[in-house]
Amino acid sequence: MKKTNLVFIFAYFIFVSSSISQGFFTNSSIESILLGEYDPATYYEDLTTTSKAMIKSGIMNEVRPDNLKSYLIEMNQFKTRNTGSDTLGDNGIGAARDYALAKFQSFANSNSSPLIPSFFEFNRTICGITNHKNICAIQPGVDTEDPSIIIIEAHYDSRCASVCDVDCDAHGMEDNASGSALVLELARVMSQYKFDQTILYVLTVGEEQGLVGADAMAKYCKLNGIEVKAVFNNDIVGGIVCGETSSSPSCPGEGDVDSTQVRMFSNGLISRQMPRWIKEQYKEELQDEVAVPMMLTIMSIEDRIGRGGDHIPFREQGFRAMRFTSANEHGDANAADPDYHDRQHTSDDILGMDTNADGELDSFFVDFNYLGRNAVINGISASFAAIGPDEVGFQGFVDGDSILIEIEDDNDYLNYKIYSRSTTQDFDTMYVVSGVKSRRILKNPGPTFAQFISVASVDDNGIESLLSPENYATMVLSDGTSIPLESPTQKVATLFQNRPNPFDEATSIGYIIHKPLGNKRVEIVIRDMKGVLVERLKAESKEGVNEVIYYHGYNKAGTFVYSIEIDGRPLESKMMIFAY
Ligand SMILES: [Zn+2]
Repeated sequence: MKKTNLVFIFAYFIFVSSSISQGFFTNSSIESILLGEYDPATYYEDLTTTSKAMIKSGIMNEVRPDNLKSYLIEMNQFKTRNTGSDTLGDNGIGAARDYALAKFQSFANSNSSPLIPSFFEFNRTICGITNHKNICAIQPGVDTEDPSIIIIEAHYDSRCASVCDVDCDAHGMEDNASGSALVLELARVMSQYKFDQTILYVLTVGEEQGLVGADAMAKYCKLNGIEVKAVFNNDIVGGIVCGETSSSPSCPGEGDVDSTQVRMFSNGLISRQMPRWIKEQYKEELQDEVAVPMMLTIMSIEDRIGRGGDHIPFREQGFRAMRFTSANEHGDANAADPDYHDRQHTSDDILGMDTNADGELDSFFVDFNYLGRNAVINGISASFAAIGPDEVGFQGFVDGDSILIEIEDDNDYLNYKIYSRSTTQDFDTMYVVSGVKSRRILKNPGPTFAQFISVASVDDNGIESLLSPENYATMVLSDGTSIPLESPTQKVATLFQNRPNPFDEATSIGYIIHKPLGNKRVEIVIRDMKGVLVERLKAESKEGVNEVIYYHGYNKAGTFVYSIEIDGRPLESKMMIFAY
């Protein structure tokens, strides 16, 4: 009996050891750059930030689908990039990471490039190997007054259906050589420009065994006090064909093609603002100027159901992080299913096919133009975050039948934007405020409706800061009293209508906790119309706006009641409709 237990525990530790070490950069100058402890003049003769117009036209014109294709063809050679695979031969993770580092180095070697390549080494046991390397390149910012950094990343490792099968062919072209190629190309293009903030380009390993490389890096940043302003994670960003077993919420049907939509996944009140901000920048700066406009979809969940990505460990450490994923992917649904015969996470995730037997691939499973469009969206967003103004805060007051917004900003920017939304993840309304710091907006939204409001500053170059966290305005008193948004009622909690509603698969349920609750237990409880318990979701008890994501099971369409309960006592209930 005892022996069996020991074998089981041993097997677990071979898969992923839980011991944590913080890791280090093999190039020792990187840590001080990440902390803002460096002289930018070491890296640049002239410390003038590149103009918004130059960066924009540079990224739009210089991201080249042919380059993306060449990186993919090169990565295709290693046969597998499983994190536990060979570190010494021509195939496997060792050869692959040497390639990526050499690629960063080749960009660094070009004229006056500030790029510094480095491995980030850390120790965790993954598939029997303890020492691992993320591949990085850092581009120091010209302004060390604000030492916060921008991370553009993708996981570099691949796998077959069995996660520690280190010998099978796992070319991993869609998942995730596509994201890796995007990061390489942006490092090449963006390192020609000068940004205020430092940019860290990262290719992680161990994603397939539990987001390990990103977790090590996120914890390193947290432990060392590195201020991460935003993380752009790219995972499966090149495929356009819908596979039979793509993960929910999935594309329309097998063989369906979508080359003009990209999905943005995130969770939490700070990170969710990132997709909204990226979409606004795209609409304002790119949509009318690009040859093929893209649809950017803000997802209400953190990842496809049952899946995960490198943005999650960064969000867990308190950083703003999101994930780009193509609209149509080949899918990584249940590999244990006997009918499982799809490409992702099998040995079939290859670059393409030689359809006319001339020895050249001529049908590609990653669309290089689509991948290029996603690279431009990443590059422009990350660049604006790296040269844009500081974020601002605000207070809001319900006053009569309008809402008064007062912006809090020590920099005295000339312009601000106020965004509001109610029932969807997208903003409904945007107000431009010039020369003043307060503005009356909206009609009072009424007793049952929430307006979520956030603000951004706009600098002299027309660049918009990242968005403030959202606050809300609900009119809850009938006597017309002015109510500061922070403490609208004597109530303990306010429950909002779920979004989207009706929903299929998943929906977000928002609520506000109005006063400190100590150790009280907060739950969102879902029951059917007969009062039968469907699910109890643990929820945050912190003061302010919170949200939980509810993943509905299948075969239970209809109307359900959800309530917020504190220590088992229901406070408020609303109805939601599950349709499929
Ligand atoms: Zn992936």
